[in-house]
Amino acid sequence: MLNRLLDYFRPNRGMQAEPPDRALFDCLLRDFPALDRLDGRQRDLLYQRCGEILQTKSFQGADDFEPEPGDCLAVAMLAALPVLHTGLDWYRDFHTFILYPAEFLTDYEEVDEDGLVHSGRDLRAGEAWALGPVVLAMSDVRDSGQGEGFNVVVHELAHQIDQRNGETNGFPPLPKGMDPAEWTRIFSAGYQRLHDELNQGREPGLDPYAAESPAEFFAVACEFFFDVPEWLAEHHPELHGQLARFFRFEPIA
Ligand SMILES: [Zn+2]
Repeated sequence: MLNRLLDYFRPNRGMQAEPPDRALFDCLLRDFPALDRLDGRQRDLLYQRCGEILQTKSFQGADDFEPEPGDCLAVAMLAALPVLHTGLDWYRDFHTFILYPAEFLTDYEEVDEDGLVHSGRDLRAGEAWALGPVVLAMSDVRDSGQGEGFNVVVHELAHQIDQRNGETNGFPPLPKGMDPAEWTRIFSAGYQRLHDELNQGREPGLDPYAAESPAEFFAVACEFFFDVPEWLAEHHPELHGQLARFFRFEPIA
């Protein structure tokens, strides 16, 4: 898959040395309700983190797409949210954002519970590779952070954060003071509850995609935490509490 992708993408925007355009930053904030809700101090911190992301990560277009400065800045702004208070060290394992103009076809190969290998192609809004790039569809980046529980940038970066201790399994390295047993209990209960809702034919509150695996459950929970925190706090208060401690951030004013 790597070779196929390398055939596709061509480098056209490297790292930026200069600080991001503050006027453009302020303008883009209004496009993303999940960011627009930040207070003044948090906005300044988000601006600082954005600068760090633009200076340390490269942005490459794929499929003849040439990202505009506003595209890279929008990705950096949404990417800055999960590390607002915890710092960019969480993104140490990858260096590149690959941006497609719209959802892209990707080849996949999966092994099911019986050990059978399934392969095929499907359309994706984003991908996070182990120690590799974060791949995003700009169309879905623009639909992110709209207060509807969808944020492809947070989703893929949650996988990167999850991978920091080896496996992508919904169990990221926890900061000091957080109890691994409590994390496991709360996330396992949430995952089970979602499966129960789906098995009983009830409308699940969380995106059903979260039922794919504990890793997807963690990534979707992060999307909801940053995008519809009031909903998460009301319906999954313990999950909300764990994520608020993990990200050292309370999105509810
Ligand atoms: Zn995912």
